[in-house]
Amino acid sequence: MKRTTLSAALALVACAAMAQQPAGGAREYPVTPRMSPEMTEFWTPQPPIVTPAPVANPTAAPSDAIVLLGPGVIEFEHVRNGAPVGWDFADGVLTVKPRSGGDIRSKRSFGDCQLHLEWRSPIEVSGESQGRGNSGVFFHSLYEVQILDNHNNETYMNGAAGSIYKQSPPLVNPIRRPGEWNTYDIIWTAPVFRESDDKLLSPARVTVIFNGVVVQNNYQIRGTTEYIGHPRVVSHGPAPISIQDHGNLVSYRNIWIREL
Ligand code: MG
Repeated sequence: MKRTTLSAALALVACAAMAQQPAGGAREYPVTPRMSPEMTEFWTPQPPIVTPAPVANPTAAPSDAIVLLGPGVIEFEHVRNGAPVGWDFADGVLTVKPRSGGDIRSKRSFGDCQLHLEWRSPIEVSGESQGRGNSGVFFHSLYEVQILDNHNNETYMNGAAGSIYKQSPPLVNPIRRPGEWNTYDIIWTAPVFRESDDKLLSPARVTVIFNGVVVQNNYQIRGTTEYIGHPRVVSHGPAPISIQDHGNLVSYRNIWIREL
C-alpha cells in the first residue's frame, strides 16, 4: 500500500515537471495586457470646491529667493536644445506658445526647494477636461504638479489642478476663474538614491498650497508621473524645474525659488 502511494506521488511530480517544460520549445508565459491612459484615470470623488480669499498683488520674492521669472528676467531655456525660450514674454508675463513653443526648464538645477509660481488660464474658455488650460510644473523634470483650468470643468480627479498627476488628487478645488491669477506655493523634498546601486533610500515628498489652501499635504511620491502606466522609480540627482507646453495658452508670472 505504501509503495503504491509513493509511486503515485512520483508520477504526479513527473507529470508536473513535464507540464512546465514542454518538449520542443520555450515555455510560454501569459502576456500582460497593454495599458491605456484610461486605466489610471479616476473620476470620483471630485475634489470639493473652495473659494479662495482675494489676492490683489503678486507675492513678492523674499530676500534669499532666486527669481526665475519676473519683469526682464527669464531664467528658463528650451528643454530640447537649451535654446532661448520661444514663448511670448511681455511685462514679466510668459505665455505658452501652443504646440510650437515646446516645454521649458530652469537653467539651474534644484533639489529640495520652496517654489512659488503664479499662473493663469486663458479668459476665453475652450476645450474641456484635460484640454482646457492644461500645463504643469515638473520637479526634476519628472514629477508633475498639474496645472489645469478646473473652473466649471471636471476631469479625472487625479489629473485635476493641484494633483500629483495620476498619483494624488487635490484635497479640494480652490481655483479662480479663467483669466485670474492662481498661486502655487510648493515645498519639495527630493528623493534620495544610494550612489552605489541607485536604490531608493527615501522617496520624494511634496506639499502644495494652491491659492492659500493646502491641496497636497506632505504627499509621498510613488515615482514618475506617467500618462500611460504606473509610476517608475528612476535614480537621479538635482535637475531643472520644467514647465509644460500642453498646447494651451497658459500664462506665468512671478516665479521664485528658495533652496532648502
Ligand atoms: Mg499638464
